[in-house]
Amino acid sequence: MLPIGATIGIVGGGQLGRMLGLAALDLGFRVHVFAPPDGDNVAFAIAHDTVAAPYEDAAAMAGFAAGVDVLTYEFENVPVGALEGIATAIRPAPAALLKAQDRLVEKAFLAQCGLPVGPHLPVASVADLDAARAQIPDGFLKARRLGYDGKGQARITPETDSEAAFAAIGGAPAILEERIPFVAETSLILARGADGASRAYAMTRNTHEAGILRRTDFPSPIDAALATTAERWVADLCEALDYVGVIGVEFFVTGDPAQPLIANEMAPRVHNTGHWTMDGAATCQFENHIRAIAGWPLGSTQRTADITMVNLIGDDIDELPAHLQNPAALPHVYGKRETRAGRKMGHVNFIASPVDFD
Ligand code: ATP
Ligand code: MG
Repeated sequence: MLPIGATIGIVGGGQLGRMLGLAALDLGFRVHVFAPPDGDNVAFAIAHDTVAAPYEDAAAMAGFAAGVDVLTYEFENVPVGALEGIATAIRPAPAALLKAQDRLVEKAFLAQCGLPVGPHLPVASVADLDAARAQIPDGFLKARRLGYDGKGQARITPETDSEAAFAAIGGAPAILEERIPFVAETSLILARGADGASRAYAMTRNTHEAGILRRTDFPSPIDAALATTAERWVADLCEALDYVGVIGVEFFVTGDPAQPLIANEMAPRVHNTGHWTMDGAATCQFENHIRAIAGWPLGSTQRTADITMVNLIGDDIDELPAHLQNPAALPHVYGKRETRAGRKMGHVNFIASPVDFD
C-alpha cells in the first residue's frame, strides 16, 4: 500500500487526468501530471507539479517518473516506447496499451479472451478495401491507430467511393468493420486491485451521436445475467494482462439471444461511460482507479441512484446556468479555455431517484 502523501504520476492532461487527480488528492496523495505542451491541460490545475513535454521526450518522461511513486495514464495513445526503461511502477502495465492502441490487435485480443467481436478485415490500401467490401458491404472503415470520439473513421455503404473513404481516414492502415445493427450500446467498467480482486459497476445504456458519447442512462436494458457474463469476460481479460486499475469495455447489444453482446473496444483507463459513478455509486471510478494503483483495497461499486449522465459537448456548456437551477443536476466542468464543436467541456449527472444499498 502506498502511504498517504505518496505521489501519483498521471500521464495525460485532459479531463480524465483532472478527475483522477482530484480523486487522488481526496485520498491524501500528491499529484504530478505530464502532458504535451500544446494541449489545454486542464489537469495541470490540480497538480502539485507538472511537466509539459512531448510524450516522446524520453528524458522528460524519465525525470517525471523518477519523481513519482506510481505512474498511470489517462490516455491510451501514450507511445509505449516513451515508457520503456522506466523503473517506477506503471499501472496498468503498458501491455494493456499495446493491446488497445491498434484496433486489429485489440479485436484479436478481445476474441482470445472469450469476448465475441464482430466481423472485420484488415485494410492497407484502396485495393484491400475494394476486396473487403465484397464480404462487408455495410460497415465502418477505421484507422487501426489513434482514433477517438469517432475520429479516423468513415462509413462504408454500397454507394461509398473506396478511394474517397480511404483518403478520409488519412490512407492509414485500417480495418473494415461490419455495421452491427445494435438495439443499444453499453459498457462494462471494472476496477481490478493489485491483489487481483475485481469489482464491476452497473452497465448503463450509452447513446452516441456522430461517434461521440452523448449520454449514459441507468436503468438500462442489460439484465443481471448478461451483466454477469460481461463481468466474467472482462475479469478474464484483466487477468490475462495482470491489469491493475479501472478498465472500460464497450459493447453493442444485439437483441439476438444467441449472441446478445458484441464487444466493440476496450479502453485501459477510466472511461466517459463511467462518469455517472461520481454521483451514482458508492465509490466512483476515479477513486477506485487510484485505490487500485496505490495498492489500496477497492471501494464498493454499488450503484446508489438511478442516474443519467449527459456530456456537455461544445456549445452545450452554455446550458450550464439552466443546469445550476436544477436540484437534480450535478455538473462537473472541466475548465477548458476554449469551446470547440465536438469538444467535451463537462458533464452533468442527473439523479432520478436514490436506491437502497443491497
Ligand atoms: P470513443 O473514443 O468515443 O469510444 P472511437 O473513436 O474509439 O470512439 P468507436 O467506439 O469505434 O470509436 O465508434 C464510435 C461509435 O460509432 C460507437 O459507439 C457506435 O455508436 C458507432 N459504431 C462504431 N462501430 C460500429 C459498428 N461496427 N456498428 C455499428 N455502430 C458502430
Ligand atoms: Mg468507442
